[in-house]
Amino acid sequence: MTDDQRRHQTDLLVIGGGTAGFGAAVAAGRLGLSVTLVEASSKIGGVMAFCPGMPWGGAYPVDRIIGGLIEELSQRLAAMDPPAAEKRPCTLENFGPEILYDPDLATLTMFDMLDEAGVEVRLNTTAVAPQMRGDDPQSLQAIQAVTCFDRHGPFVIQPKMVIDCSGDGDIAAKAGVPYRLGDASATSKPGSMMAVTMSFHMIGVDWQAAFAEPDPYFTAYAAQGVAEGLLHPDLSQLYLMKAFHPGSVFCNSVHIRGVDGTDPGAVAAATQEGRRRCHQLARFLRQRVPGFAKAHMALLSPTVGVRETRKLQGLYRLTGQDLATGTKFPDGVVACDNPIDDVMRAEGDMTHQAALAKGDYYTIPFRALVPERIDNLMFAGRILSADPVAFASVRGMPQCMAMGQACGTAAALALQAGCTVQDLATNRLVASLSAQGLNRLAEPSALV
Ligand SMILES: Cc1cc2nc3c(=O)[nH]c(=O)nc-3n(C[C@H](O)[C@H](O)[C@H](O)COP(=O)(O)OP(=O)(O)OC[C@H]3O[C@@H](n4cnc5c(N)ncnc54)[C@H](O)[C@@H]3O)c2cc1C
Repeated sequence: MTDDQRRHQTDLLVIGGGTAGFGAAVAAGRLGLSVTLVEASSKIGGVMAFCPGMPWGGAYPVDRIIGGLIEELSQRLAAMDPPAAEKRPCTLENFGPEILYDPDLATLTMFDMLDEAGVEVRLNTTAVAPQMRGDDPQSLQAIQAVTCFDRHGPFVIQPKMVIDCSGDGDIAAKAGVPYRLGDASATSKPGSMMAVTMSFHMIGVDWQAAFAEPDPYFTAYAAQGVAEGLLHPDLSQLYLMKAFHPGSVFCNSVHIRGVDGTDPGAVAAATQEGRRRCHQLARFLRQRVPGFAKAHMALLSPTVGVRETRKLQGLYRLTGQDLATGTKFPDGVVACDNPIDDVMRAEGDMTHQAALAKGDYYTIPFRALVPERIDNLMFAGRILSADPVAFASVRGMPQCMAMGQACGTAAALALQAGCTVQDLATNRLVASLSAQGLNRLAEPSALV
């Protein structure tokens, strides 16, 4: 194949097909852009695919649907015969209702929505390095091309706009966007990151027997398992929840601390260790916990789910204080009231402390998705610009999808206006997102 055939032009390059990348690509495609989505793995969904069946949490701040693509996706699933999604209360403190769904039908529907929006999806394709235009660090720069890699080797994508939705921000970081790793207080040193997790389902569980007691963490059983050496000490709380299908239980319990999700070696080692602990836990559930005796394991994560790596530096850094005061930014793109969901850093445990007063919510500003110095780059999802407290709240999949939807929309508006992403009139963006159904918290919830 010649070099020219391995050179590809597109209006928008979306890097990463997680919930954020999905939102960005569908929104931009619907607004008429040619969109190429590159995804390093063989499936879309990101963490949603790596931990299949994980509920969409945070879709209902103050019990009102956030709207936009997550609402559309959920409604498409709920309208199937039989329904493939439903709203349920969350069993954890300070979380609002969440959406449970059939993970395979959700993936299929997401592929359908990408297809309908005309998005070119390239799976098993990794974005490797940006090529920059402008090298004066004091003035605006741009990404003129991104080298990608697939089974045929390297090739080049030349986009007008780029949205990094990779969860780790490799390309934005290589393009020079400053970042903090984990809970680092400065860009110059790495911080501690939340634990990574292997999840699985148990199928064939007697729900009535298993959930006879109200403790979502099965603390008494877990303590016994740890004391007898049957479970790893970090399994002193087992988070087990009813999954979408009757008789199936989602086990989001095996957390591995101290893993840098940007280090492939560390992720591989954690995945191996996670598999061991998941099988150990499944055996324990069958032997010791009521309702599980006849159940079997299914949907074991293909790799650990990584919660937190880089947080890129944007025009604005969302803070825990913004959350506590229920700040509604003029350029707010999505509402949220999730608690501070911090999970087992090197030191510390799990917390679900409320982020703000009950009945209130805050919004995530567009400026937290825009770098200072690169005029055709945005970022969405768990790499947004936020301090560790704010990050622990904003990172739910519905919010990530909405951040993507906002950036995809912003790409179309900026190209239409011929302006940089920093100069985009955010009132136009907010108006367009409202027209797409995002952020209408004043209306009653219509979903499932
Ligand atoms: C264990 C765990 C439990 C969680 N529980 C919940 C929950 O119950 N409810 C909830 O709503 N949220 C939950 N979260 C949070 C939520 O899942 C994530 O914050 C969210 O999915 C992040 O979405 P994202 O699109 O930003 O990133 P990701 O989902 O990480 O997606 C990034 C994608 O980019 C791809 N990629 C990376 N680098 C490249 C590259 N260079 N080129 C091409 N592709 C690339 C990756 O393969 C991946 O598919 C949980 C997270 C974890 C890890």
